[in-house]
Amino acid sequence: MTDPSGAAASASPDLNASKSAEARVDFKAMPRVLQRIVGAALAEAPARVAVAIGASLGSAAASLTLPKLFGHAVNEAERLLRAASGGAGYASALARAATAHQARDALIVSAGLVMLASVVRGLMAMTASYHSEWVSQKVAYRYRLDYFAQLQRLSFGFHDRIHSGDLITRGMIDLEGARTFIQNGMMYSVTLVLMLGIAVGLMVTTDASLAAISLAFVPVAAFALGRMGYLLRITWMHVQRLMSALTLVMEESLQGMRVVRAFAAKPFELSKFDEAANAALGWSYERIVVRLRGVSAMQLSFYGSMGALLWVGGHRVAAGTMSAGRLTEFVTYMVLLQSPIRQIAWMVASAARATTCGGRLFEILDLKPAISDRAGARELDPGDGVLRFEHVDFAYGAGAPPIIQDISFEVRPGQTLGIVGPPGAGKSTIAHLIPRFYDVGAGRITIGGTDIREVTLASLRAHVGLVQQESFLFDATVTNNVAYADPWAEDWRIEDAARTAQIHDYVASLPAAYETRVGERGVALSGGQRQRMSIARGVVPGPGVMIFDDSTAAIDAVTEKRVRDALEEATAAKATIIIAHRLSSLMHADEILVLEEGRIVERGTHEQLLALGGEYADLFALQTRAEQGYSIAETQMRRKLSEAQP
Ligand code: ADP
Repeated sequence: MTDPSGAAASASPDLNASKSAEARVDFKAMPRVLQRIVGAALAEAPARVAVAIGASLGSAAASLTLPKLFGHAVNEAERLLRAASGGAGYASALARAATAHQARDALIVSAGLVMLASVVRGLMAMTASYHSEWVSQKVAYRYRLDYFAQLQRLSFGFHDRIHSGDLITRGMIDLEGARTFIQNGMMYSVTLVLMLGIAVGLMVTTDASLAAISLAFVPVAAFALGRMGYLLRITWMHVQRLMSALTLVMEESLQGMRVVRAFAAKPFELSKFDEAANAALGWSYERIVVRLRGVSAMQLSFYGSMGALLWVGGHRVAAGTMSAGRLTEFVTYMVLLQSPIRQIAWMVASAARATTCGGRLFEILDLKPAISDRAGARELDPGDGVLRFEHVDFAYGAGAPPIIQDISFEVRPGQTLGIVGPPGAGKSTIAHLIPRFYDVGAGRITIGGTDIREVTLASLRAHVGLVQQESFLFDATVTNNVAYADPWAEDWRIEDAARTAQIHDYVASLPAAYETRVGERGVALSGGQRQRMSIARGVVPGPGVMIFDDSTAAIDAVTEKRVRDALEEATAAKATIIIAHRLSSLMHADEILVLEEGRIVERGTHEQLLALGGEYADLFALQTRAEQGYSIAETQMRRKLSEAQP
């Protein structure tokens, strides 16, 4: 997987110096990526691809009739001119009139055929263009769906490593790069190759020596194109990476808008954005230079050949060894070749872009999700509904330090487990292991006696409700947000959940009550209101296991007490885990675990832990005194003083 942090690495483009970048560009992957894009188009709409290629060939064939028609027309025009300026005498006047008549008729026929060929060419080109864009858009649509589904499938471990800005760039800009190749490159490649082949064949059979002069530009053009494709691939790789970095900076500063404003960090954010934008601009300029250099070298050699053709051909016409019509025919071939040659340059550029973009897209699409249903996974049967941790160890990634070690506990339906401990002790990590956001390193987690890795993720996650501290709300109505896990939930269930979370009265006071839009573009809610909204969301589906991960931290103590009382009723039959800093939130639990540095250091009921006189008792004393008006610092100082006294 590419390291997204390397994205903004090269601010000043220097193609010759970027050897390390070249090493990272996998040139061998180019045919594979293009083949895959072409395969996707063929599989998506084979009939349309055939029509597009057929129409494009038809258009090319119509174009190829033009040189002969023009050549013929010029010869007839010459005949007409000669007839007009012929010698005197009755007989010759009659012959001239007949010739002029014939030539005029031939000219009119030629004009009609040129018009017909042009109309056919235009219609065919239009058909080809319509179908090739249609197919490319359909493939892009399919890729977009697959990409989105893949992002949903990929594990948290993956999302921890890759920034969402990079993923957005791949799903939007890179996908577009692959799409345009289908539209502009793939569909015309057959036609271009055929057209070039036929034109060259016709030129060679018509006049081999003139053909050799006309086609002298081909080796130079081929070299220029090859080099251009190679260099463009490097520049595209840099541009796309920098686009990712740019999206990342933009996304971060939009999400952290309040922090940016609060710390008056606008200039800093602007300079960060400017730096990334400048680097991207530098590589974009480089890309333009590379392309222009390639195209110019090609065109220069082409017009060089054209000049040589006119020079040699002109001499031959002047010497009377060749007709003006033949020269016109060759010049028309060259004019006709001009557009495919330019298109080939575009195609090479488009293929270079598509390989980079397609490669970046497929890199994500091909990843195997670290957490997925095992072969033969069945639906979770909760059985007795007991949630059990059996000697669970976990680390974020292989070789990373252990975060939790030897954690064992059991929560029965109707029971509550409390987990307390300092920040970073591993409390949330325990919560994340239950719906399998991550898999345990050692030991196992069971529900109803079944290892949770043996059951389908969908059935497991439907059974486990997790309310997190950071309450994300969708840009949608209150109803849609609360009923997110169960879109068919009846209104009374949504309202009940809101009452349990103590948010009903507030929602009822909103302009459109439950139909009020909340989230980014809706009514701005306070932290506590958002938390209560996400508690309501967690309660609606009525899962068998409910986990509240510090989910009442932003709610005032009085409201929290009311939420807790209501929740006790709502979760009476569930296995409940409460993670909290405020001990009043979990002191009623059937068992409380005190976690420190990933290990359980104390466990028992509130009373047992108080009697133990350890960490929990200290914390409780600290919080009680703080509630009584002592500041925490003061309480800690008093404790230290009393410890210091013998
Ligand atoms: P708590 O909930 O007790 O505050 P966490 O379970 O969130 O603790 O974190 C425990 C430790 O794991 C911390 O040291 C934290 O830095 C680390 N950690 C948490 N999430 C990740 C992650 N996604 N990747 C790597 N380390 C993580």
